[in-house]
Amino acid sequence: MMATIFTAWQGVRERIAKAAAANQREINAVALLAVSKTFPSEAIRELYLIGQRAFGENYVQELIDKHAALIDCNELVWHFIGPLQSNKTRSVAELADWVHSIDRLKIAERLSAQRPEHLPHLNVCIQVNVSGETSKSGIAPDECLALATKICQLPRIQLRGLMCIPEPTPDLSQLAKQFKVLRDLQNQLITQGIPVDTLSMGMSSDLETAISEGSTLVRVGTALFGTRTYL
Ligand SMILES: *Cc1c(COP(=O)(O)O)cnc(C)c1O
Repeated sequence: MMATIFTAWQGVRERIAKAAAANQREINAVALLAVSKTFPSEAIRELYLIGQRAFGENYVQELIDKHAALIDCNELVWHFIGPLQSNKTRSVAELADWVHSIDRLKIAERLSAQRPEHLPHLNVCIQVNVSGETSKSGIAPDECLALATKICQLPRIQLRGLMCIPEPTPDLSQLAKQFKVLRDLQNQLITQGIPVDTLSMGMSSDLETAISEGSTLVRVGTALFGTRTYL
């Protein structure tokens, strides 16, 4: 087990390093978020012991359970990346270090109000619907600047960047086009005086394309932990 997950982790890091080098980018410019949803805390602990620090969860109850089970892992950084309902924000405000899935002001306001005083600001990303699919979460690209401006006024959260989940397609130029929407939006925010440094884009199947379009953080589950079986 240990050997397997270590090999997988090395393989993903190798892919990231290659993609970064191919685009004249520093290896350290692209962070690896290990998406551990549906996998047990023991699997997270194995990766943590190898040296992985950032882990992503999609479901609030899993975040609560795993946070408790891994409380001794002092340097573990928790990212919440799933859809967030307003009645579930409190646990996330208390337990997460990052939230990638902000798609409306109300959620951001609640997270800011519920972020405990003794903790540093909660880092957040706005999730943008770059494909225009009606079923996808995320705000429309043309609403991003207005939401970002309002989020910047909230006291207990820090806007760090943007996140997207593109429509899967074997056409790499179509994929790249979707990632570019996010990068263009980042540049727009920076031009408007909102200094966001994070582009959360790229997963197991498309991280190379995301890195070539400027990703600073790839969210990888399957390539690290194997195929998920949902309950
Ligand atoms: C599950 C999930 C991932 C990881 O996807 P893989 O294809 O398993 O790498 C990344 N981002 C989000 C938002 C997810 O829900």
